[in-house]
Amino acid sequence: PTVLVTGASGFVAGHVLDKFLAKGYNVRGTVRSEKTAANVRKMFPEYPEQLSFAIVPDMAAPGAFDEAVKGVDGIIHTASPFILDAKDVQKDLYDPAVQGTTSILEAAQKHAPTVSRVVVTSSFASVLDPNQGTRPGYTYTEADWNPVIGDAAAKDPVLAYLASKAMAEKAAFDYVEKNKPTFTVTTLLPPMVYGPVRHHVDSVKSLNTSSTDILRLFNGSETTVPTTSFWGFVDVRDLADAHVLAFETPEAAGQRYLTTTGNYSYQQVVDIIRREFPELQATTPEGEAGAPLPPVYRIDNSKAKKELGIKFTPLEKTIVDTVKSLRALKE
Ligand code: NDP
Repeated sequence: PTVLVTGASGFVAGHVLDKFLAKGYNVRGTVRSEKTAANVRKMFPEYPEQLSFAIVPDMAAPGAFDEAVKGVDGIIHTASPFILDAKDVQKDLYDPAVQGTTSILEAAQKHAPTVSRVVVTSSFASVLDPNQGTRPGYTYTEADWNPVIGDAAAKDPVLAYLASKAMAEKAAFDYVEKNKPTFTVTTLLPPMVYGPVRHHVDSVKSLNTSSTDILRLFNGSETTVPTTSFWGFVDVRDLADAHVLAFETPEAAGQRYLTTTGNYSYQQVVDIIRREFPELQATTPEGEAGAPLPPVYRIDNSKAKKELGIKFTPLEKTIVDTVKSLRALKE
């Protein structure tokens, strides 16, 4: 079978490509330019035949994916801006997130009758209620939706990113309800995604947002341990497995899945780095070494474990592998 993976150049997509290719699937990746296609191809020299590309310069344009979807059996929609400093919220976040999602569903319905399942990389951002803060005692489940969307989120670039994910995911389920396509949609809800880098990275300056979140904790950028932004994480390799399983599992039709190992804090991350990489102690803030996790919301991962059969990687392994990988990148 052939799957279309949108945003093939990204951090998460690198591992998604890896998992599907290793399982023998043909993968068609969408990228914005020929140059990006060449960079992605370089990362997968072992699959010259199985990996191909479609160039989609602007996914918010009408009919953007009409050609790219032709002949594929499934779609993995990972492309979405993950930026926390958008200047123009409508143009930089809402349009590509929401129209990109609707556009791929429309293209599938019109031009790809062979598509059985569309997996959308949504986010815990689509679940979390940012008005509730750390919400001690509360457990988020797949029943929760971020209520702060649209204009209510547009003044703050972080809220706007969270909103863009909620709006895009809602648009996907609304599309299915309204247009009754023959394919089904499954969405994945990861919090912070960490782990080794599998995609092409020119230099650490162009590193993706969540990898940079760890890099800055050990490269001397931070003199104190910052307040944890989101209190849950997942290993990118587990998330990539989840994409394959969400595509292959019939019962996942129409479902959303929280994909997370569970809670973590930046304090726990620096504790691991300082213990496992003594040579990085000088550039890694110490904070309150060994401090336990404060009382914060929990995230229920039982549905993904039960229905998709995922075993989530512990923080220690994820962080050690992340640090090793990021240290090997060009400055
Ligand atoms: P990256 O920035 O590494 O990848 C984003 C991908 O989307 C890139 O391929 C990028 O293409 C593409 N993209 C971004 N904006 C546009 C646009 N306007 N038009 C076309 N393509 C675009 O981020 P991640 O890999 O981390 O993110 C992948 C998905 O995972 C996103 O949907 C994100 O919301 C979601 N996610 C990520 C989390 C994380 O912690 N990493 C947490 C929760 C969800 P290009 O290379 O050309 O810029």
